[in-house]
Amino acid sequence: MALHIMQGSSENDDLFEKTSARKPLHKYSLPKQESDSKTMYRLIKDELMLDGNSRQNLATFCQTYAEEEIHQLMDDCIDKNMIDKDEYPQTAEIESRCVNIIANLWHAKPSEATGTSTTGSSEACMLGGMAMKWRWRKAMQAKGKPTDKPNLVCGPVQVCWHKFARYWDIELREIPMEGSRYVSSPEEVISRCDENTIGVVLTLGITFTGQYEPVKAVSDALDKLNKEKNLDISIHVDGASGGFLAPFCAPDLLWDFRLPRVKSISTSGHKFGLVPLGCGWVVWGNKKDLPEELIFNVNYLGGNMPTFAINFSRPGGQIVCQYYNLLRLGREGYYKVQQGCYDVGNFFAEGIKKLGIFEFLYRSDPHTGIPAVTWKLKDDANVPFDLYHLSDLLRERGWLLPAYTLPEKCQKVVVQRVLIRHGCSFDLMELLLSDISRAIEKLKSYPPAKNLTPTGSFNHGR
Ligand SMILES: *Cc1c(COP(=O)(O)O)cnc(C)c1O
Repeated sequence: MALHIMQGSSENDDLFEKTSARKPLHKYSLPKQESDSKTMYRLIKDELMLDGNSRQNLATFCQTYAEEEIHQLMDDCIDKNMIDKDEYPQTAEIESRCVNIIANLWHAKPSEATGTSTTGSSEACMLGGMAMKWRWRKAMQAKGKPTDKPNLVCGPVQVCWHKFARYWDIELREIPMEGSRYVSSPEEVISRCDENTIGVVLTLGITFTGQYEPVKAVSDALDKLNKEKNLDISIHVDGASGGFLAPFCAPDLLWDFRLPRVKSISTSGHKFGLVPLGCGWVVWGNKKDLPEELIFNVNYLGGNMPTFAINFSRPGGQIVCQYYNLLRLGREGYYKVQQGCYDVGNFFAEGIKKLGIFEFLYRSDPHTGIPAVTWKLKDDANVPFDLYHLSDLLRERGWLLPAYTLPEKCQKVVVQRVLIRHGCSFDLMELLLSDISRAIEKLKSYPPAKNLTPTGSFNHGR
């Protein structure tokens, strides 16, 4: 008996049998008609299966785990535009509370500090950098000096500072890594400073290895420079990761507004601030260090609001989630989560050490860096493969653990780096260690034919 098949799609059809599912998705042109929402959702969600699994992405600094309540708050705020401060006054109020709490965490005087949320550290750094440039220019103009050759001195920075320098026509005097020194040093900083230096950027958790730069030592050296040569150069700390780590896990480390030379600090809420992607913060320890001319008093939708931002419309949920985390975790909760990451980092580093063929550039230490482990092959490892092969093989199990070369002067050094974030459990790291060990055995048994180490370098900053 032949089955009688009705033509066309009906409401009761299986999702994959609906008309819109019986052909590949449109890729380059707009479809003529609408499709059923459930089918479209399913097909697009399925395509996303091909993305890497974020929890196994060991390269990113950004949060990949969030509590149910965070998902809920993001949903609750999906319709809130941060910029409409008059219409959503409580979201604006919550932003201002967060700025205050973070400024306080960084030891600013509550009555003197000012700051703002941003979409991430890149925007926050851009704002910090602009304030530096404007301050410098005003000071030079007051002395009747030319202002056409600004420079910025820094250690090995994240790509956002390269952007800042290019977009604002500033000469970037970046201190290269050398030998086994992967951060800046006071001597290297001072030798690059002159009256055209708009400021010094120091990173708390440099992207390449995870190490902190010596903020206190550089600040002392700049004090000395000021005494001897009357050059008063301020510091911006790029605390993308460290801004939410050091206050909890290394409270005695001097890097923040306790040092008068530190005028501004930026951080990523979506990294160790533990909120979903799209949140950063920048704080000036004293209002007078944020030049008035940079603030726009927007008379819009019935209110007059001062803003200092690159974007106009942007989502409010991340900021609300930042407030949630600050309240939900408190000082103790943040300490437990972050210290937990350092502990897992150490557990993982011990496992890497046992493999016998790797040498650490940096390993998870709350006083000198972020919860990360960075290693390279020992010079005498004598293995028939490189870290790129290892990286490729680990991908078979879903681990995203890229190999990359260090920047200028150290381009020959190939490293791997694991970021330990909230949700990287001891168990997950043990599973990763056994996969690394298995991959090494396989590479030894079946040596790859070709070396994959590139001759050039690429920027892996994220
Ligand atoms: C991640 C990072 C940035 C850029 O931050 P986003 O939040 O991704 O815009 C800048 N500086 C450092 C040191 C970083 O780690």
